[in-house]
Amino acid sequence: MIAPLLITYISASILVTLLATGRRISFAGAFITSLLMSPIIGIIAILKSEKNISIKHYSTRYVCPVCNIEYSQEKECCDFCKEMGKEIKLESKRVLIYE
Ligand SMILES: [Zn+2]
Repeated sequence: MIAPLLITYISASILVTLLATGRRISFAGAFITSLLMSPIIGIIAILKSEKNISIKHYSTRYVCPVCNIEYSQEKECCDFCKEMGKEIKLESKRVLIYE
C-alpha cells in the first residue's frame, strides 16, 4: 500500500512546484526540495524566495529632445549635440526598469 502514498506525495510536490511561478527559485530546485525534504519544506523554501516583481524599479533617465540619446546620469547638456556645436538641455523622464 505504498504506491498511493507515493503518488500523493509526488502530486503534492508537483503542486508545490507550481507555486514557484514568478519567483526567483527554479522549478527543478523547488521540485527537488519538495521531493527530498517534503512538500511542506518546499512551500517554505518557495515562500522565502523573493518575488520577481520586487526587482522592477523606477529610474530617472535624461533624454536629449533633439537626438533622443538617453543618459543614465544627469548632465548639463547632450554630449552628442555639444560636439555638433549646439547646447541642448536634457529632459528627465521616469522609466520602469526590469532586471
Ligand atoms: Zn542630443
